[in-house]
Amino acid sequence: MKKQLVIALGGNALGNTPDEQKQAVLAAANHIASLVKDGYKIVIVHGNGPQVGMINLAFELAYQQNSNVSSMPFAECCGMSQGYIGFHLQNALQNTFLEQGMTTHVSTAITQVIVDQNDPAFRHPTKPVGLFYSEEAAKEIEQAKGYTFVEDSGRGFRRVVPSPEPVDIKEKGTIRCLMENGDVVIACGGGGIPVYRENGMLHSVDAVIDKDKAAAKLADVISADTFIILTAVPRVAINFGKPEQKWLERITVAEAKRYIAEGHFAPGSMLPKVEAAIKFVESRPGREAIITSLENAYKAVNEDNGTIICS
Ligand code: ADP
Ligand code: MG
Repeated sequence: MKKQLVIALGGNALGNTPDEQKQAVLAAANHIASLVKDGYKIVIVHGNGPQVGMINLAFELAYQQNSNVSSMPFAECCGMSQGYIGFHLQNALQNTFLEQGMTTHVSTAITQVIVDQNDPAFRHPTKPVGLFYSEEAAKEIEQAKGYTFVEDSGRGFRRVVPSPEPVDIKEKGTIRCLMENGDVVIACGGGGIPVYRENGMLHSVDAVIDKDKAAAKLADVISADTFIILTAVPRVAINFGKPEQKWLERITVAEAKRYIAEGHFAPGSMLPKVEAAIKFVESRPGREAIITSLENAYKAVNEDNGTIICS
């Protein structure tokens, strides 16, 4: 049976501007094409930090200039980023496949990720988004809209939104169906649009779900065989950046947990990736997760390269 992969694409695979992004996705497309040719079925989850920041900022600035412009909720900004990044990836992948004589189709699923309204993260928003404001202006917006602002390292006041845990993926059935059909699917972009359930209905909420966590959850609920996190480094290291740095090859969940406890992985960069990998591996016996770079992805999947986390 051919293997089903969920691949989380790191921010560096997308660049910082629309032009950079168009170039960057072409490189990503080439590496993904090699895996598709080998018969792997693939779902791609991408980040959206700079992109959603840019969209949110554009609406905030427009609103400052002209109060007739309606303000744009953060969840909608996430939806827009899924659409436009999905378009770029879809276009680059499709062109690469055509160029290489492949008949594979590509589709993007606007994805809602279910979160728990009682997640403690909602009481402690942590993720800074949007413009910097003076204390006065921040207070005004806080009153008017109920946003939370915090002082950000002497640079002014900035809105923070919660970062809740992903509980389920609303469009998992569609995503699985498309993947089984042989499409390369782009889903859960930017960690997905956060929604919570109330009286059986889904409501969006301004929050940010960690992309690697959402990807691990997706890989679990669509029963993928392997979860791959692609980032800027070919392997995870202990003593990272120190003279005694050591790249890790194959490690067990128990070893990974010990390294976490010893503080080897930076919070906000490598730590959430290792944690997401562990979550996936623990979700069912026999599952493996790989952390590596885009350039090394093909080798990692076929030759045990990269850092592999197993049970
Ligand atoms: P992404 O955009 O893919 O989410 P991040 O920059 O958030 O990437 O996280 C990956 C980075 O984490 C690596 O490029 C590396 O600089 C850093 N890093 C921190 N700790 C480690 C570690 N122990 N091993 C490898 N890389 C680490
Ligand atoms: Mg990151």
